[in-house]
Amino acid sequence: MDVVPVPPFGDFATAKRFHHLLLLHIARLKQRGDPVGLHQFLLGQAIGLHGPGSGGQGECAECRQPGPCRTALLIALLTRLPVPWTPGSLATVLTATRLWPGSEREVIEKDRLEWGDPVQADPRYRAERTPQTGRWTVRTYERGALRDSRHVEGDAQLCDLLISHALAIVFPYGWKIDSGLAEAVDAGAGHAQSWWSAQAHLPYLGAWSQQGAWEAGP
Ligand SMILES: [Zn+2]
Repeated sequence: MDVVPVPPFGDFATAKRFHHLLLLHIARLKQRGDPVGLHQFLLGQAIGLHGPGSGGQGECAECRQPGPCRTALLIALLTRLPVPWTPGSLATVLTATRLWPGSEREVIEKDRLEWGDPVQADPRYRAERTPQTGRWTVRTYERGALRDSRHVEGDAQLCDLLISHALAIVFPYGWKIDSGLAEAVDAGAGHAQSWWSAQAHLPYLGAWSQQGAWEAGP
C-alpha cells in the first residue's frame, strides 16, 4: 500500500505526490453515490493553487513556502490526511508553517514538546512522555500558574491534540454578524446555485458520484 509522505520533502516529486494525495482525499470525503459537494469542489480549487511549482524543490507555487505550505498543511491536518506523523515530525512542521499559536521558542524533543505563548499571557503547553508506558502528560500554564493537567494515551492521540491547536475560529462561525451583511452577499447565492447545478451535471463531476470513502451513517 502506498503511504502518504511525511514533510518536509525536499524534492518536487514527493511534494507533488503529497499534493495529489491531499486533493484525492478531499474529493473522497463523501459517501459513494453522493454528488460532489459545492464546498468540497471549491476547497479542491483553492488547494489546487497551493501545489508545488515546477522546477523547484517542492515549494508552493502560490506562496513560495517549502511544501506543504501553511494553507495546504492546515487542510491536510483538519481533513486527517493519513500522514504517518510522530509527535516530533508533526510539531516540526507545525512550527515551520507557523500553524501553532505563538510559534516561538518551541521545544521539540523525542519525549518532550513545548509550545504556545512563551510569556503565558495566552496558554503555554508542555507535553512529556513516560517512556515506560508511552503515555503523555500535557500541562497547560497561563500567567505563571498551572491551569490544567491531563493524560494522553499515546503518540496518535497526542498528534490529534496538536492538530486541534491549529484550528482557528474563522468568521462567521461563532461571530456576531452585523445587520445588512448577509443581504449584501445573498444576491450572489442564486447565481452560485445556477452555476453549480450546471457544473455538477457535467460528466467529469457526475461520474465522480460513484467515488467516496465515507461509511454510511447508522
Ligand atoms: Zn501555498
